[in-house]
Amino acid sequence: MNIRVGFGYDVHRLVAGRELWLGGVRIEHELGLLGHSDADVLIHALCDALLGAANLHDIGYHFPDTAAEYKGIDSKVLLRETVRLLREHGYEPGNADCTICAERPKINPHVDAMRACLAKVMGVDEDCISIKATTTERLGFTGREEGIAAYATVLIERRASS
Ligand code: MG
Repeated sequence: MNIRVGFGYDVHRLVAGRELWLGGVRIEHELGLLGHSDADVLIHALCDALLGAANLHDIGYHFPDTAAEYKGIDSKVLLRETVRLLREHGYEPGNADCTICAERPKINPHVDAMRACLAKVMGVDEDCISIKATTTERLGFTGREEGIAAYATVLIERRASS
């Protein structure tokens, strides 16, 4: 059994005047996440988990936030590229289990759309993508709605060499 696990974590600040993108889906909200890309904190955590599992550095290493080509980029492009990189190194993504920490907006109504979106981008079954949401009981920066945090754990499998 040639399997490996990876873990990812990311935080972005919530500000006015930005769209809110989470798990590849746009969510109606009066605040959005600030970042060089679309700031999709869930996808970034997922990319870091995948890269970590394959021991391929992190998202900032592959997609530097100083590079003009990544300014305002749709994070789904980064996820697609991350999975391509993994496959190039002989790995196949297995399942992912993710948690979003946000006081508002309500995440649960959007979870199925996010799962479908991420599964499609990664080329895996929807059953392989779990997304959970929690608040932090109004504690800390997520509780004060200053930002949103996301965690992701993934399993990847090394393809049998022929
Ligand atoms: Mg990020």
